[in-house]
Amino acid sequence: MIVVMQNSATQEMVDHVAKVIQEHDLKDEIMYGDQRTAIGVLGDVTKIDEGNLIRLPGVKEVLRVSKKYKRVSREYKQDDSVVDVSGVKFGGDNPPVMIAGPCTVESREQTLEIAEGVKKLGANMLRGGAFKPRTSPYSFQGLEEEGLKILAEARDKTGLPIVTEIMSVEDIPLFQKYDIDMFQIGARNMQNFDMLKKLAKTNKPVLLKRGMSATSEEFLLAAEYFLAEGSDDVVLCERGIRTFEKSTRNILDLNTLALIREISHLPVVSDPSHAAGRYDLVTPLAWASIAAGANGLIIETHNNPDEALCDGAQSLKLDTLEKLMKRVSSLTK
Ligand code: PEP
Ligand code: MN
Repeated sequence: MIVVMQNSATQEMVDHVAKVIQEHDLKDEIMYGDQRTAIGVLGDVTKIDEGNLIRLPGVKEVLRVSKKYKRVSREYKQDDSVVDVSGVKFGGDNPPVMIAGPCTVESREQTLEIAEGVKKLGANMLRGGAFKPRTSPYSFQGLEEEGLKILAEARDKTGLPIVTEIMSVEDIPLFQKYDIDMFQIGARNMQNFDMLKKLAKTNKPVLLKRGMSATSEEFLLAAEYFLAEGSDDVVLCERGIRTFEKSTRNILDLNTLALIREISHLPVVSDPSHAAGRYDLVTPLAWASIAAGANGLIIETHNNPDEALCDGAQSLKLDTLEKLMKRVSSLTK
């Protein structure tokens, strides 16, 4: 962090800034220039907030030179992290993980049929929502505990680990009761910091989806909450962001996906289903995601999308999922 002083700042003001820096257990380094003076802040700058310095007399601006996140970055850990979800490995040299299943668990028959179908095609994990974050309170809200029970049965029948969304810290014991393999944190809860902290204490892996208006820095800082609590099993998920473009549901931000693969050691998967919002774009976006470095895909799949209670428009039928998986595997050979 660098504190730039105003031209008119007096030596007394410079000394006062240096004293405040020292009071925060940090070192100051005063640099006198022809026009103005700047003061470098050295040490663990998380101990101080820009707001503590910007208001001091004589200060013109405070520049942050290092990023706010630490543990998620490759400076902290150079090699790819591998996240193991009940034997399924994300990241490193492992092939892309295929996660497939319905947006929501609608019934036992529907979920078991889809689970068997995606297993046969070679998917590695089953997804399905029991607690659904719906924009309208009148839309189907999910089967809740009954949904978790059905997912657990589908796992027992197929051997596929399950990932499902949690929306409230109150439900953590219920997820533990059914031994859910991975918590999904939905886009709308990426900054539910209380939930992030409490989930970090469960020692279960999480699939952290990017908020629809979150910057890449905010996304990484949300992941940092887990690493700061000593929980390293975080898989990031790019699921599309909101922009001015209205012809598709969201825009799959492959820039950020590729950028995060550069700057972070955490695995990143892509969710082209929620990005596109229409089934015909899912396969090309899935393909592009793998080319951009995604460590896996999460694909909404339904046995009868025309009748789906949620996100039918973007759900693939099993035969389309099969073609998608063939294309993806031809790319990774
Ligand atoms: C989902 O995965 O079904 C979902 C609601 O996703 P998102 O949180 O990305 O909107
Ligand atoms: Mn969905």
